[in-house]
Amino acid sequence: MYSLKDYNTFGIDVTCPSLHEVNSEYHLIELLANKTSDEIIILGGGSNVLLINDLELPVYLNRINGIEVVDESEEELIVEVGGGENWHQFVCWCMNNNFGNFENLSLIPGTVGAAPMQNIGAYGEEISKYLINVSTVELKTLKKRVFSAEECELGYRNSVFKHREKGKYFITKVQFRLSKNRKVNLSYGAIESLLAARNILKPTIQDVSKVVIDIRNSKLPSPSEIGNAGSFFKNPIIDEKSFLELKNKRPDVVFYEMPNSQYKIPAGWLIDQLGWKGKRVGNTGCYAQQALVLVNYGGATGSEIYRHALTVQQDVYDSFGVEITPEVNLLGLS
Ligand SMILES: Cc1cc2nc3c(=O)[nH]c(=O)nc-3n(C[C@H](O)[C@H](O)[C@H](O)COP(=O)(O)OP(=O)(O)OC[C@H]3O[C@@H](n4cnc5c(N)ncnc54)[C@H](O)[C@@H]3O)c2cc1C
Repeated sequence: MYSLKDYNTFGIDVTCPSLHEVNSEYHLIELLANKTSDEIIILGGGSNVLLINDLELPVYLNRINGIEVVDESEEELIVEVGGGENWHQFVCWCMNNNFGNFENLSLIPGTVGAAPMQNIGAYGEEISKYLINVSTVELKTLKKRVFSAEECELGYRNSVFKHREKGKYFITKVQFRLSKNRKVNLSYGAIESLLAARNILKPTIQDVSKVVIDIRNSKLPSPSEIGNAGSFFKNPIIDEKSFLELKNKRPDVVFYEMPNSQYKIPAGWLIDQLGWKGKRVGNTGCYAQQALVLVNYGGATGSEIYRHALTVQQDVYDSFGVEITPEVNLLGLS
């Protein structure tokens, strides 16, 4: 048995029967040809999973590296990035080479290969705007398949890999479009305010990246200090009828209008209103600076954190009639 404690940012100590590092597409196909189980579990940085119990399936760690420029014009370039590359290291590579598009997504933990899984996003940007395609190996047939951006069906913290094609493909490489003359995106208020406070009037992509890193460091707990997987729940999107009911009950509700008469409610606000923010329950709880982040104060088990998540979820439903669902992938659920 192999411990997965060092392979998930919650720091949960569960085991798996075997652990394989995958270093290339060729290596992956070779390993899969000899696999002993029909299903496997893939992990990148383990920063978006909650390991609830010991896993009965073999775990494959994506360590396929490399950044290759596949096309270039005066305005942009296309890069193909190994799925095992660390996302933030890739953003740093972009910043060092003066290539824009991902500066707002600085410091998101995890690997490039997991980024399309939930269409990672932050501070007014999502990778869906710049993703060209995703190379995969189908686990059952060992055949390679390239998904176009459209076929990935990227949505808010969602993709085809989280629903219809769940568990069927190993993402080996991802192609992105990078900009050589990027017009920075300051749509997220806190970025603009911090730049202004620093007297930066014409921000570069590197300025934006630094500001994003500072904002993130001030708000989010570092997994190296306190176990967590970022936002535990997705922000619920509700229809007009449910929204009006909620607004009637709570005129102060925070919301964002979405297309098709839908409304996005910050899950953190809902949880915060119920007094969960900063409340410790055993070895877990909702982080003091951000109620949406569940944390492991040390020694928490996956099932303890899961039970806490269910309690918070039920409380939000009972109090507001709104269902919040996990953004984090639940593994080992028996
Ligand atoms: C402090 C903190 C802050 C965060 N902030 C953000 C944020 O701002 N925005 C955001 O979108 N996310 C955020 N996250 C969540 C997380 O960083 C992202 O979801 C990230 O993309 C996960 O990458 P990973 O390699 O760690 O994936 P893992 O946790 O290893 O895996 C996540 C899921 O993808 C599957 N998977 C992983 N790699 C592959 C592959 N190669 N092929 C097929 N399936 C695969 C796994 O089986 C699992 O179901 C945050 C997390 C933390 C801890």
